[in-house]
Amino acid sequence: METMIRLSAAVGIFSIMIVWEYLSPRRKHQLNRQQRWPINLGLAAFNMLFMRLTIGSLAYLSAVYASEQSFGLLNRLPLSEWMSIIATLLLLDFAIYCQHIVMHKYPPLWRLHQVHHTDLEFDATTAVRFHPMEIIVSMLYKTVCIVLLGANPWAVIAFEIILNGAATFNHSNVDISPAIDKNLRRLIITPDMHRIHHSTVPAETDSNYGFSISCWDRLCKTYRAEPKEPQTTMAIGLTAFRSQQELTFMQLLALPFRSLRRR
Ligand SMILES: [Zn+2]
Repeated sequence: METMIRLSAAVGIFSIMIVWEYLSPRRKHQLNRQQRWPINLGLAAFNMLFMRLTIGSLAYLSAVYASEQSFGLLNRLPLSEWMSIIATLLLLDFAIYCQHIVMHKYPPLWRLHQVHHTDLEFDATTAVRFHPMEIIVSMLYKTVCIVLLGANPWAVIAFEIILNGAATFNHSNVDISPAIDKNLRRLIITPDMHRIHHSTVPAETDSNYGFSISCWDRLCKTYRAEPKEPQTTMAIGLTAFRSQQELTFMQLLALPFRSLRRR
């Protein structure tokens, strides 16, 4: 049931963004969809199946367990259901922001996360381009956070849907007017804001780590408003991989085990 809710929401949001990208693209892509989509969507399908067969429901089940055992911070505080839901959503989002920074700064984890950054274009399918081991590490980290926090089980389902939806939205190649983008950025992360994180310029990659709400980057001074080059022509990806052809599915799976490329 919990998996079906998440899957339906993910497919629905992805479909909307694909249509929006087609009708109103922000950038003209150099690589065509036939080169990238089978790889990105292949990784998504592989990860989904792998998680379904292994620890896909761990986050939700650990929240239920913590709640039944009255374990974790929020389960010990006299909070209303709504306060507990809001606190769970905010604190888990901050935890994922912190995880993203560590993925970049700690070389063994960067080996996994670089797979996401080797995409030479930036669209909704980039949001699902992750190495399966990063998905596992992320799930285990999230589970520890959920148990220590005593996260509300309903909020955990909502958080998974919001995180997935926000990632699909902020990776998408959609054209949003500057005025609307500016207002949206006060609260959420827009595609123009997150695209900067996928720049080939290291200082720009080291910015805009958030996934859903923009306040963590502002509070922690990792916010960057604009890239040096224009949004429509800035280079995307990792310089070390731009000179070669798009990596294949198998090459991406093997990438963490190859000698480490510098960002
Ligand atoms: Zn990143």
